[in-house]
Amino acid sequence: MDKTHCVIFRPLLDAVASHWPGAQPFRFEIGPGWIGLVRDCHDALVAEFPQYELRAVKQKVAELAFQAWPRSRGPREAWGSDAPNWTEAEYRQLCRIEDRFAVRSQSICERCGGPGILRETRQPIWDMTLCDPCEAAVPMNFIERVRQLQDYMRAFNA
Ligand SMILES: [Zn+2]
Repeated sequence: MDKTHCVIFRPLLDAVASHWPGAQPFRFEIGPGWIGLVRDCHDALVAEFPQYELRAVKQKVAELAFQAWPRSRGPREAWGSDAPNWTEAEYRQLCRIEDRFAVRSQSICERCGGPGILRETRQPIWDMTLCDPCEAAVPMNFIERVRQLQDYMRAFNA
């Protein structure tokens, strides 16, 4: 994973980040092995929800957590007890798409994108999905792990 890799993937992630409404640049909180998965999830979401609003892309219990809303909910100050800007069925459908990619991430190494399996060696702090070589390479120490995996993603988040 070098600069060339960044050059190839950056435009793919820019398309995803363009759905982020925040004033600050969007931060991808995942390892580089899941970039393709994130892009595929984005494509699946756009196909049904062209105006979907990006909320988060992170790792949660060793799975990809791609979190979005079917469309913008408007400024936070305007949120009341009113129903959000989409139907229950739309939200369920969106969650089904997100879940499909969460399931897919269960067998993709978050670090290199190769075939991975659940690693519970970092319990109770942080389970991960990794291949054998990456299981050996990713530090057990939580702080070190985050530093190593996300150093790479910083190029995208910059
Ligand atoms: Zn790997």
